[in-house]
Amino acid sequence: MLAMKNRMAKPQSRYARQSVPSVKRKTPKFSKICESLAEIGRGFHARGWVLGTSGNFSAVISREPLRLAITSTGLDKCNLAPAQFLEMDEAANVLRGNGRPSAEALLHVAIARGVEAGAVLHTHSVWSTVLSGSHASQGGIALEGYEMLKGLEGVRTHKHREWLPILENSQDMVELAERVSKTLRESPGIHGFLLREHGLYTWGAGLQEAKRHVEILEFLMEVLVRSGAAQSA
Ligand SMILES: [Zn+2]
Repeated sequence: MLAMKNRMAKPQSRYARQSVPSVKRKTPKFSKICESLAEIGRGFHARGWVLGTSGNFSAVISREPLRLAITSTGLDKCNLAPAQFLEMDEAANVLRGNGRPSAEALLHVAIARGVEAGAVLHTHSVWSTVLSGSHASQGGIALEGYEMLKGLEGVRTHKHREWLPILENSQDMVELAERVSKTLRESPGIHGFLLREHGLYTWGAGLQEAKRHVEILEFLMEVLVRSGAAQSA
């Protein structure tokens, strides 16, 4: 009897997790998205943008209700694997997978909702850490005149002026998510923002677009730091 009870205990809790009524099961799509997210994450680690356990990555797998595939917290990004991703709802409840989402999961939800992003990528590069500190008093960084700006969705000319807001960092994710939502409402058309001495958040309609935005913004921030912008701020 005891053995039977034990045998039943696990499937019951697992079933309870999987039987959330509004969740549509899309297993092949979820696993494919996790493969792509893991590959992108390993690539970012190789570039030095998400060293140690820093950074987190997500992609929308369902819009209504909102469901995200997102990195589990505390993972070394150098060998990120598809099995290390979770499916979560917009309150960061885990619906699938092992582990728990990053504390910053609520920021991913705010961005997925605020700009209808299909993917949200967050890096902690040296360049974003330096610039978001040196330019914090200005509230953001203007990127203008660079050919690489054309890699941002909708940008057609190097004369485009891209504003990269800097938000004060916080460990209170509910409060920070509200400030992120406010920034997205007040600065329509931005492609990303920085958290002060913390890192970059950017996004895209899909994962490839979001990845491209990381590459473009990280490139431009590196250019600014290497050309002395941090000293002259
Ligand atoms: Zn972070």
